[in-house]
Amino acid sequence: MKVKKFGGTSVGSARRMKEVARLISGDGRCVVVLSAMSGTTNRLLGISSLLLRSNKEEARQLLHTLKADYAAVIDELYDSAATATKAREITDAIFADLLAITDAGPNEYSERETVARGELLSTNLMKLLLDEMEVSAALLPALDFMKTDIHGEPDFPFIREHAAKAVAAHPEARVLLTQGFICRNAEGGIDNLRRGGSDYSASLIGAAINADLIEIWTDIDGMHDNDPRFVENTSPVHNLHFDEAAELAYFGAKILHPTCILPAKENNIPVRLLNTMEPDAEGTLIDNNLRKGTIKAVAAKDNITAIKIKSGRMLLAYGFLKKVFEVFERYEKPIDMITTSEVGVSVTIDNETHLAEIVEELHRYGSVSVDRDMVIICVVGDLQWRNRGFEALALDALADLPVRMISYGGSNYNISFLVEKENKTEALRRLSNHLFKN
Ligand code: ADP
Ligand code: ASP
Ligand code: MG
Repeated sequence: MKVKKFGGTSVGSARRMKEVARLISGDGRCVVVLSAMSGTTNRLLGISSLLLRSNKEEARQLLHTLKADYAAVIDELYDSAATATKAREITDAIFADLLAITDAGPNEYSERETVARGELLSTNLMKLLLDEMEVSAALLPALDFMKTDIHGEPDFPFIREHAAKAVAAHPEARVLLTQGFICRNAEGGIDNLRRGGSDYSASLIGAAINADLIEIWTDIDGMHDNDPRFVENTSPVHNLHFDEAAELAYFGAKILHPTCILPAKENNIPVRLLNTMEPDAEGTLIDNNLRKGTIKAVAAKDNITAIKIKSGRMLLAYGFLKKVFEVFERYEKPIDMITTSEVGVSVTIDNETHLAEIVEELHRYGSVSVDRDMVIICVVGDLQWRNRGFEALALDALADLPVRMISYGGSNYNISFLVEKENKTEALRRLSNHLFKN
């Protein structure tokens, strides 16, 4: 069985929803994971942040506008007045819940409870559309089987057991429809898998039910060889190894949620990235086959802070790096890039929470300097060290840009460069011209 995930733009309007309904009704029994309609998650987060700032009245007004937009979608979506009436009843109930959350005032759950309604809206509307089209479909509440543990990580044994049960409970349904992104946490409260997390839902569900294929349907024909938001004339990459895709997703290729590759890779389930607007395009197949000896793509990760700890005497001393890393561990701060020399070490982090405390503790081990607003540019492909010439090629592309750090050899798939924010687009363009246009 396939798992098919449709992102926000794929279900972003009544027209797009109809297109998705057509796509999913003609391809055998499948699980369908939907995101919220595009814009909804951002709007719900906006409403929630107004609430947190005790601006209840404005939050209510924005809810009202959002509800009116859904009413317009319903008017366009269904052929029969009876289905439209049902849709109105369901959305009214969801908006009543949202109003109740708003009226209750802010608490630690209000944002998570509010934002979860986006996926509940889109899946309920889609279920009614499939009913109207007489496609046999079941709506499986993701909150029954998607769960995180006390560390906020997916509780995979629970998901495996309960997702499989939920699917098996509807042997007659051709489409098993469910919500991406949302889950319950270890305390049983409504939670989510963080922004863009519907991809993660799809791969977890795919792994849980041993799917044959996980399809991620979006608004572009697969993973491109560079970020199309910054570089013109990018091209789709037709095949990627799981590890190449994971590097690209982690280092900024927005088309995939960073964590979504792992469940597919561990269970050897291929992932195909496809375009809802161009369903016949080949897209990108991600699996365990490495297409050897080629650079596949370039990605960029923003908002990086580099920290350099310099200490001539201490670095060579046994245990220096351990002490430095322990500081980051104490603040639960993952490190993205590391470079070392005899006199110092540079590391990067991707958010500045606790930065002042970290810097203060690091001062014990030497002088510390911080560079903010940096960007990691990541070149991904079959870059194992015996493949000659690729490092030189990538470096050559960036020859006259200031590069703060270079990292190679950590994996067989990546060379990373740290540059200033101002040089990001230029670095991406130069790499495209140098690596892919010859
Ligand atoms: P969805 O809402 O379907 O999850 P996203 O917006 O999360 O879609 O991801 C698709 C977007 O990712 C594309 O529209 C594109 O702008 C962006 N993107 C960034 N880097 C890449 C890349 N290397 N290849 C393809 N798309 C990319
Ligand atoms: N709707 C959620 C978001 O916008 C999840 C997703 O689209 O993957 O982040
Ligand atoms: Mg996405």
